[in-house]
Amino acid sequence: MKCKICNDKAVMNGFCSKHYVEWFENQVFKTIKDYQLLSPDEKIAVAVSGGKDSKSLLYILSKKFNVTAIAIDEGIPGYRDVLLEGLRQFCKDLGVKLKVYSFKQEFGLTLREIVDSRKFKNSGLKPCSVCGVFRRYLLNKHAKSFDKLATAHNLDDEVQTVIMNVFKNNKDLLLRIGPITSKKKGFVQRAKPFYFLKEKQVAAYAFLKGFLPRFNECPFSYGLRSNVARLVNNLEVKMPGFKKNFIQAFLKIKQLAAKQGFESFNNVCKVCGEPSSKPVCKTCELVLRFNPGFKQLLKV
Ligand code: SF4
Ligand code: ZN
Repeated sequence: MKCKICNDKAVMNGFCSKHYVEWFENQVFKTIKDYQLLSPDEKIAVAVSGGKDSKSLLYILSKKFNVTAIAIDEGIPGYRDVLLEGLRQFCKDLGVKLKVYSFKQEFGLTLREIVDSRKFKNSGLKPCSVCGVFRRYLLNKHAKSFDKLATAHNLDDEVQTVIMNVFKNNKDLLLRIGPITSKKKGFVQRAKPFYFLKEKQVAAYAFLKGFLPRFNECPFSYGLRSNVARLVNNLEVKMPGFKKNFIQAFLKIKQLAAKQGFESFNNVCKVCGEPSSKPVCKTCELVLRFNPGFKQLLKV
């Protein structure tokens, strides 16, 4: 099959590699414009992991916006350190400043140390539950000096996250969905320029641009998200357009919930002062559980 624009061989979405890259970048800039995600006069923090999606996002945004990369080092030897090494070089080549914040520095323990502890083993928790809470907390905390925090979440991520949060009966998810989160005291607005692009479209872009890191998988990842991803992909095959329809329906529910005055996170944590729906936020609860002597949080 030939490219829709030129006579070269089509590789993705009916485009050759050159025109696919152009199409993809235009889609990203269109979402940014249509949903007023970012503006050239703003200071933008870009959450980066060293993986293909966030490298692609950083690369594209750096063409038009004032960006700084922010990465979180959870302390997962053989995984995050390898990705961070590649990321440092990537940011250097791009001329973008990279700031790295670690669990060890901020909470006194690496994720590896937490997971290896007896307390964790008896807790019934999964590493991802602790990791996700800590990472979101640190990104929000350190992006506060910026106007927005851009993340590389794509359509597949968002559908999976909604389904997983429904399974867990987590109503706070409504605050986080959408191409841009609403303005709320204590929270940096999160913008998701890949919001309407599928995982495989982002992967194709990253592949064509040479942004794929050396394959390595987090040793703590477990099946729930990949099971949900499989389920969602099967539904998309049976009902083409499922992912987009699903997320549009959720965005409507969010609008209705906002009209009803749905509120959450309307307190501040009495330990660290960050926004929280309970007197002590989830991060402080976990830190004090696994590292009771750690007082640094009180300084926030
Ligand atoms: Fe953290 Fe889980 Fe992701 Fe590993 S797979 S980096 S533990 S959230
Ligand atoms: Zn707290």
